[in-house]
Amino acid sequence: MNPIASILNAQPVLVIDGALATELERRGHNLKDELWSAKILLEQPEAIQQIHYDYFKAGADCAITASYQATIEGFKKRGLNDQEAIALIQKSVKIAIDARDEFWADETNRAGRSKPFIAASVGPYGAFLANGEEYIGNYGLTEKELMDFHRPRMRALIEAGADMLACETIPSLLEAQAIAKLLKEFPNITAWISFSARDEMHISEGPSFADCLRLLDGNPQITAIGINCTSPKYIPSLIREGKKETDKPILVYPNLGERYDAEKNDWDGHPATGSFGEEAKIWYDAGARMIGGCCRTTPEDIRVIAGWVRGMSF
Ligand SMILES: [Zn+2]
Repeated sequence: MNPIASILNAQPVLVIDGALATELERRGHNLKDELWSAKILLEQPEAIQQIHYDYFKAGADCAITASYQATIEGFKKRGLNDQEAIALIQKSVKIAIDARDEFWADETNRAGRSKPFIAASVGPYGAFLANGEEYIGNYGLTEKELMDFHRPRMRALIEAGADMLACETIPSLLEAQAIAKLLKEFPNITAWISFSARDEMHISEGPSFADCLRLLDGNPQITAIGINCTSPKYIPSLIREGKKETDKPILVYPNLGERYDAEKNDWDGHPATGSFGEEAKIWYDAGARMIGGCCRTTPEDIRVIAGWVRGMSF
């Protein structure tokens, strides 16, 4: 089952959604917490469901679930037991499915659209540390330790009915390889792997994006590879580097170009772009076939992307 392929058979670009945490903050929720958007999953899941709905309405072909920072260890630190932690991780998938089903039940929403799918977010080990290490890597863990970290959440997300996995903001090639290996334990699921990058050639931990692609390209369960939560200024070059190494669809969902300050737990600097959604056309021209937004982007940015995507002849 490859939900990406079925959508890309029907349209030139698959529209990914935009930021969840930013949108929650914009709507007045306080995320100053180690669990980040997972805190709202615990306290106000209906707020997350509404944002998923709004992204579908804006034109997103998939929802990335609120499980980025939701881990069994993280919830256990909050006093939940294993079963409660797993149930909460699964809730992130269920509310995304509910939002999608509500959206799709309305016939007027279906015109010219493919049925959206649910991509369950698998954040990196660095996101669990909650100190900004998803932009650094070098955790000092072995491949086996990384597999052990990712296994239970991955199983929970799959069992909850996710259509695929969104392994995102991965800073480290070793972690991507651990995930790739772990996928073999779940042969019925596909995944995208998306790295965070430090410049126009290299992922956060240092290896070139091209080298990462060479090592992951042979895995049939990985159905798209790309870059997210990275400044838009690096994106065109990274796409071109990627295109040389793979025939899989390249996905990009950059942030607005600000820098994450782990100490302040906030974003610094000014957005790098005028109109994010318009700039995204450059990424299409460079060869990206799945485009959306990461931190600080909004439903309005996704509406602009979906606008030019649906206006294209195909
Ligand atoms: Zn981000």
